[in-house]
Parts: sequence; structure tokens; C-alpha cells
Amino acid sequence: MSRTQKSAELFDRARGVVPGGVNSPVRAFGAVGGTPRFMAAGQGPFIVDVDGNRYADLVCSWGPMILGHRHPAVVEALHEALAHGTSYGTATAGEVELAEEIVSRVGPVEKVRLVSSGTEATMSAVRLARGFTGRSKIVKFAGCYHGHVDALLAAAGSGVATFGLPDTPGVTGAAAADTIVLPYNDVAAVAEAFAAFEIACVITEACPANMGVVPPLPGFNARLRELCSANGALLIMDEVLTGFRVSPSGWYGLDPVEADLMTFGKVMGGGLPAAAFGGRADVMAQLAPEGPVYQAGTLSGNPLACAAGLATLRLCDEDVYDRVDAAAQLVGRAASDALTAAGVPHRLQRAGSLFSIFFAGDEVTDFAGAQRQNTAAYRAFFHAMLDQGVYLPPSAYEAWFLSASHDDEALTVVTEALPAAAKAAAQV
Ligand SMILES: *Cc1c(COP(=O)(O)O)cnc(C)c1O
Repeated sequence: MSRTQKSAELFDRARGVVPGGVNSPVRAFGAVGGTPRFMAAGQGPFIVDVDGNRYADLVCSWGPMILGHRHPAVVEALHEALAHGTSYGTATAGEVELAEEIVSRVGPVEKVRLVSSGTEATMSAVRLARGFTGRSKIVKFAGCYHGHVDALLAAAGSGVATFGLPDTPGVTGAAAADTIVLPYNDVAAVAEAFAAFEIACVITEACPANMGVVPPLPGFNARLRELCSANGALLIMDEVLTGFRVSPSGWYGLDPVEADLMTFGKVMGGGLPAAAFGGRADVMAQLAPEGPVYQAGTLSGNPLACAAGLATLRLCDEDVYDRVDAAAQLVGRAASDALTAAGVPHRLQRAGSLFSIFFAGDEVTDFAGAQRQNTAAYRAFFHAMLDQGVYLPPSAYEAWFLSASHDDEALTVVTEALPAAAKAAAQV
């Protein structure tokens, strides 16, 4: 067992002043129980908590740390930016360079606007789509996460023409009423929604990874493109998670369906708060100050965030993606083999270097399927891995993240921990 005294003390203090003791819910270990670990440092593929326990990191800050922690070139870029100043509330050169880097990598993005979080990116993209089309209704898919935007937290109901019911208190019926929530991978439901309503946009994760990894069935994204085009709606591909992670141009590089608008975050900030939305020039031209759709941000294009993001993207070459792919292949296969050996029903689902393991027997193609897993088995698996120095996502509904820094040492820590964790899961 690892020492957890300092984490436990900090968690107690935190609960005194922060709701639930955390600033983002999954960090509280609610789904797995136990003491959330307070991290103190990271280096390459490892993170170290305040009690001095070291973990091979399979969360990677939920994706951004694709180069590992404290990559020297990113640290140097940050030092360099810091030497000049931290924020001016004016335009800066770094923003131009980061925007150019994004535009050069992702075909459908002709213009891009920088923001500070993925939530802001999707919120702004939906507003822009509504402003551009003059329509109100939007389609989203159950199980797809687009940040905590009011209209996008609606995930209740399934089946065509089910108006979204707010999934959380605080989101009014009015905010959710224009959201149509459909089952993922269900082309017929999308077609029926278009037949029944005037729709401003369809927003989808380019490849869903926030209900576990549930890849689009072959042709699904392309069919969304056709339906949107045929009905005068915009297609928004949310690549906050997949962007610059699964290929140099994100999921678009693997499944080149042209969206009208796209959203980015995570990797493009290199571990600092930076995100973006972009797409067709004529649509983006509707944005203030060029057009009438308002959107702004005090810290948008922050110099430190741009420096970290630019340094990260510039280092993300084919070699980096090859290493992330290889590490993800190895860990996914080893975990699946260990679970098979222990007799634990599970399903390894991959999409490029993204993968997750469902503790369930069948292929998962939508949110209903994702919910049919044995979360108690995951809880046992998670804690056995944690005790052996591997930091997995503290929820069965998350992807596992690798980085280019996951070397033999880190991968060995992971693979050697798997058999005991699989046995723990088998006993549930
Ligand atoms: C993480 C994520 C978001 C939200 O980004 P934040 O920076 O946490 O606001 C939106 N969409 C997807 C697909 C994500 O994975």
C-alpha cells in the first residue's frame, strides 16, 4: 500500500474550502473510492504525489501531456515567454504562430480563434453555428462530452425528437430545450431528426472518448456530413481530445470528413490553458469584430499558453505519433491479455492511439452499451494498479492516455502491475 497521509490531510483541508475538495469532479475519486492523490511533480511518464509515491502516468492530464511532463523544449519555451511578460490583453506574435500552426495542420480550418478551455470552444462554436444559420436547434449524441456548456449537458432521453432534458440542476429547461439528444452511431435517428426539425448544427466528438472509447462506425461521420449539407446545417467536429493527439491533424487525419467548424484544446495548450475553434472562413467571418456574433476572452491567446502549445505542436512529428501509438498498442494488449488470463470479461476498444477497456463482454457502440459495464471490477483493478505505482483514470468511462515519453521503464511498471490487478478485478 502506498502512503497517503499528506494527500488525505490536503483532501480534508480542501473539502473545507472547495466543493468536494476538487476543482473538477472526476479528481475526487468518487467512482473508485479512496483518497485522491494530490500530485506534486511530474517528469516524463511519471508523476509524484505529495507523499512521495511515484506513478507511471496513464492520464497525462487527460491528454495534453503527449510529450510527457516537463519536456525540456516546452519548459524552455515557457521560460523564454515568462522572461518577457505574462499577459497584456493585446494581440501578440505567439497567437499568430499558434493559429498558423493549427491552420496548416487541419485542412478544414481556414480561420481559428483562440480561447482558454475546450468548454469555451464548443460553447462559442455552437453560438456561431446558430448565428450563421439563424436556427436554434442543435443535435448532440448521448455519451459525447463537449465540456460543461449548459445546452450540451443535456443527455437525457434517446430516440428521435426527444427534446433534451437538463441532466443537471442549474441548467434550465429553456437552455436544454433546443438540444436534441440522439443515440451515438445511429444514422437513422439523425435522419429522422432532420426530417422533423430545422437544425442549426450537429456537434459530435470526432471519435468519442469520454464514455470510454467508442469509435464511429465506418461511414458514420461521413453520413453526418451528408445530412448536414443536405439540410443547411453546420457540422461541428469536437476534437478537443483527439486533436493533435491521434495524428498530426487529429482524428481528421485518420477519418478525413470535412467539418464546417472544429474545436480543439488539450494537446494544443501543451499543459497550459489554451483551446480553439475554427473552420470555414465564411462562417468564422461572422465572428466579432468581423461579424455580429460576439465572443471574447481576457486571457484568450495568453502568451504562456501559446508558447507551451506552440512548442508542443512543433515537437509533435511523425516520430512522436509513432511512439505514442506503439506505447498504446503495448499497454492495451498487455492489459487485455492480463484480464483474459484472469478470466475477467472485458472489451478493449481502440481508435488510433486512443483506447479504453470496458469491463463488459460486448462491443460498445453507444452510451447505453458503455453503461452496461462492471464498474466494481474496474474499481478493484484501478486500486490494485494504483498501489503498484500506476495512475489510471479514476473512472471506468475514460480513455487511457499514453505519451511519447513512456519508455521501457514506465511501460515495465505498467505491464508488471497488470496481472495482480486483473486478479483483483476477477475477485469482484
Ligand atoms: C475535455 C473535453 C472538452 C472540454 O474541455 P475543457 O478544457 O475541459 O473545458 C470538450 N470536448 C471534448 C471532446 C473533451 O474531451
